[in-house]
Amino acid sequence: MSRPRVAPPKALVEALLQARKVLMVTHINPDGDGLGSQAALAEALVSLGKSVVVANNDPVPAQYSFLGLDAFTGDPAGADLSLSLDCPVLERLGAKGRAVFAAAAATAVIDHHVPKEAFGHTVWIEEGAAATGEMIEALLPELGVHLSPAMATALYAALVNDTGCFRHSNSDAFTFACAVRLLEAGADRQGVNRRLMDEKPLRQVRLQARVLDALRALAGGRAALVAVSAADLAAFSATWEDTDGLAETLRSIEGVEVGAMLREEGPLTTKLSLRSKFGFDVNTFAGRWGGGGHAKAAGATLRMPYDEALKTVSEALEKEISAAPRH
Ligand code: 5GP
Ligand code: MN
Repeated sequence: MSRPRVAPPKALVEALLQARKVLMVTHINPDGDGLGSQAALAEALVSLGKSVVVANNDPVPAQYSFLGLDAFTGDPAGADLSLSLDCPVLERLGAKGRAVFAAAAATAVIDHHVPKEAFGHTVWIEEGAAATGEMIEALLPELGVHLSPAMATALYAALVNDTGCFRHSNSDAFTFACAVRLLEAGADRQGVNRRLMDEKPLRQVRLQARVLDALRALAGGRAALVAVSAADLAAFSATWEDTDGLAETLRSIEGVEVGAMLREEGPLTTKLSLRSKFGFDVNTFAGRWGGGGHAKAAGATLRMPYDEALKTVSEALEKEISAAPRH
């Protein structure tokens, strides 16, 4: 096994057991890992008699409403512990998320990204974990909590989200063993698969068809890029969630080593999403714009207009992928 089993630090377990009111936040544009981890841990902490508030910067996308996070909305004030889940840098908590996170008496971080920035009083980072949900599954028994079917379903969703349903290279024997325990605890595998993998809005398919038709091949076909303008989104009444999976689709093209998606977010803000197939480290590549993530899945927020971002990222990919060893 190429990594140790995930194990929560004692200080974190103690901090959670002693807290009376716990606040949770995850990154902006939240995904199934951050939200699934929150749903499971929130239910666990409530079963221990604690008060729990989830106060993310952004609303829960409709796709994840089944997690039931609405039950944990409330006043974030007065928390004695705040937890940041699935987020490697403070900035990605968003302005609102950062404010509530910092206002608690003590702060803790639970994450599985390549560390970018030290923040939080108690920090638990497991770079090898496929998902934050895998860490929460290891944390619950340490808290003395038995997995309920709802917790298992939420954590299964976290795993499915970050592993592309156990296909990506981050799924190893530990991840599968974790999934087995979740299924044994009653995780609704088919429900999660349907909501996260097998069903998408028609507008999403139409939007993706439009932008994929105009994909750009770079570095002699070793990289591919799609660009989604605000006008593209508006034309299909689509939102950022509807661009999900585009970079993965590009990566699946034969000969393509890196898939990239650029999305116009505002006059001076463009979002970049990257997926790598072999050795090219997109975490390092995204770092030049202050972004990060993992070696094979990373992102960045570029503080520049869409057209400029398109030119800048295309040129950087062209240059770096052409120079990278071929696989
Ligand atoms: P996605 O492309 O799905 O938005 O993100 C892929 C991975 O990169 C995720 O692990 C995500 O947390 C990370 N990521 C995405 N955008 C950013 C960013 O702007 N900064 C950092 N540090 N990580 C990001
Ligand atoms: Mn994650």
